[in-house]
Parts: sequence; structure tokens; C-alpha cells
Amino acid sequence: MPLLTLKAQIHAAPEVEALLKEAMRSATKVYNGLLWHLREAYQKTGRVDLSRKNLNRILKKLPRAKDYYSMSVQLTREEVREAYQSFFALKKQGKTRHQAPGFRRKEYLSPLKYVQSGFKIASLTKVEGDRVTVSLGTGRKDGARQVSFRIAHRPGVRYERVRQLSIVYDKFSGRLEARLTVEVEAAPRPGEGRVALDLGETILMAAVFDDGSAYLYSGRGLKAVRRYWQKVRANLKRGSRRWREVAHREKLQVDHLLRQAALHFLRECAKRGVGEVVVGDLSGLREGLDYGEVLNQRLHAWPYRKLVETLRYKGALMGIAVREVEERQTSVTCHACGKALPSNRRHRGFYACSCGWRAQADVNGALNIYQRAFQVSPVKGSSGRVARPVVRSFRLGWHGVHEPKRGGDSSRAS
Ligand SMILES: [Zn+2]
Repeated sequence: MPLLTLKAQIHAAPEVEALLKEAMRSATKVYNGLLWHLREAYQKTGRVDLSRKNLNRILKKLPRAKDYYSMSVQLTREEVREAYQSFFALKKQGKTRHQAPGFRRKEYLSPLKYVQSGFKIASLTKVEGDRVTVSLGTGRKDGARQVSFRIAHRPGVRYERVRQLSIVYDKFSGRLEARLTVEVEAAPRPGEGRVALDLGETILMAAVFDDGSAYLYSGRGLKAVRRYWQKVRANLKRGSRRWREVAHREKLQVDHLLRQAALHFLRECAKRGVGEVVVGDLSGLREGLDYGEVLNQRLHAWPYRKLVETLRYKGALMGIAVREVEERQTSVTCHACGKALPSNRRHRGFYACSCGWRAQADVNGALNIYQRAFQVSPVKGSSGRVARPVVRSFRLGWHGVHEPKRGGDSSRAS
């Protein structure tokens, strides 16, 4: 059964919201407390003991660990381990000069995670959404043991069971949100067909099917939307109310465009009997970036992350599996002779190699992703030529990029 992540808005009474935020700050305290003790031990002994046993021992010394649900505390502990593991990986590559992972800001609202226990979800009416009850810690001074609130997610999503629930602070909207990992019943597979996708900026998606035919989805509409809102945001104080509002609006418009493109593509897949989509894992985007650029790069990458998520989600409902494959070097490698020459990439949007191969650059990339995933090329053996790709473009409707009439309207596309 495929697992999907559903986003939901939280509608909570002010006192409930305050309690949740308080618990989230406790999670931050616990996170920082664990880091602090690990740092101290490192200074004394020169070693970091990341064993669960050691971390549990430290947790007993942290009073705030009794403020939120015990299983969630264990998930905070796992976040600390992951932080250390990625820190060690960076250190090994010489990409950080720090001595330990960084603390979270005091006011930071850490996510509250619930896996399989500590939460209950009851559906209300279609309009009202669901009612969620989550457990808090057993040692709270105010004696509160659990809180309830209402959540609302996109209508029309049917799921069997909720596996996981996270309460997170969304910095774009400035609100608390719930993320549900749910099991859904999938549609039967449309067929055995396969397709490879290369994601990019000018061409949002380049798709190559088994028969070598290609589809290009223009990224111009998306680019225009992002550029417009970036300009608006440049004149606003970062993190201010207006800034967040603008960021939120940009996100809605971007989501809308991505959904349109993803849906069009998936319907085409279903029509052609495609059961599996492989997509480049964006490792190409990370190539040549140093640690300082990671944050910028994350901002740059979010529409692609979102697109892959949308494909995965909508695809699962349609019986189409979406798998990521490593895309390193796929954009600079010649699909015909296999030589990787960065200078070959893009001459007026075309990939041209000295061996005589010439193809639209993103189609060349998608062909390489296809070959990497399936160990076979959709064009080799046949005429060796790619058919002229079909080009699709999506942009917002008549109202342009300024003000969407109803920004949150997702029903138009889905
Ligand atoms: Zn070549």
C-alpha cells in the first residue's frame, strides 16, 4: 500500500495552540540539551557517544523531556543523531570548520512527531475535516495530558490509515500545520510502460517514453511567477508579516502550476500504459556547491522537491510508481557515445557532440536517466534519432501573476 504525505491546516483554540507551541519549544530545549551534553562530553573525552543508551541517559537529566509525549521525545533524540551523522559526513569531506552541529534558536518551534501511538484521528463532516487528539508529556506542571484540535486537508483524498503525524511550524504561512503520513489504496497499474524525467529550469520536465518519443514542459510560466514574487519580496523585511504573506502567495501559485504540469504528464502516462516513472534525484543541482550555499540551494530546489512529491502522490493514486535515480553527470554525457564533456552541454538548448549526436539538451539528459534506470536506451537500436518533442507550456490564467482570484483553489487542477 503506498504511503503518502498529506498536509493539513490546524484549526485550534488559542489556548490549545499555545500549549502546542509550548510543547514544540520544549522539543527545542531537549534537542539543544542533548547537543549541549554531547559537546561537553566531547571536550572532556574527545569522543561523542551517539548510542541510544547514552542519549537516553542524558534525556533523564532534561526536565523538559517530560513536557511532551515520550515517543516524540525519542524522535527528537533521533533528530540529534541524524544531525551528528550529517555533521560527521560534512566534516569528513572538509566542508565545515565547526566542532559540532549547531543549536536551534531558543524560540524555534521543533516539530512534534507521532508514530503509530500518542494520537487519535476521528473524521468529522466533509466540511469540518478531522478531529485530532495528541498526547503530551506526563510531567507537565499544568497537568495537561492531551489536547484536541481540528485539521482540514484537501478534500477528496481517501486514505485507509494514518501511520504518522507531525505538527510543524510552517514558516511561509506563519501557522502550525499537520503532516499526515497515510496509507492509500492504489489504483491498478496502467501498464508496463516506463518513462524517464529530467527536471530543469527552462524546461521544467523533459520526458522520454519507451518508444523514444519526448515531451517537454516549459518552465517559463513558473520562472515568471517566481521572479515576480522575488522582486516583491526583495523590498520587504525578511520574516515580516507582509513578507510571509507574499511568500505564501508565491507558494500557492507555484503549487498550482506544478500540479497542472504533473497532472497533464501523469494522464499522458496513464494513456500510454506507463506504470513506472524514473526521475533524476536532483543531485545534479548540488554539484559544485559548498556548505555556505546549501541554504540558497534549498530555496532554489523547493519547486523541484514539490514537483517530485506531487508526482509521487498523484501517481500513487493512479497506480503509477515514481522512483528517483541518481542524475549525476546525466546532463553532460552524450547519449550516443557516452562521453561526458561539460562543454558539450547546451548550444542554443541543444546538446551537440563531436560524434555527430544532436538532441534537445534536456531530452539528452532524460535519455541518460532512462538508460541509467533501465540499462537500456529507448532510441539505440532503432533509427538512433529522437522524434521532435511535443512542447507543453503552463502558466496562470487571465489574472496573470499578480493576484490569484482565489489563491488556495486547488480544485481547478485536481
Ligand atoms: Zn557523442
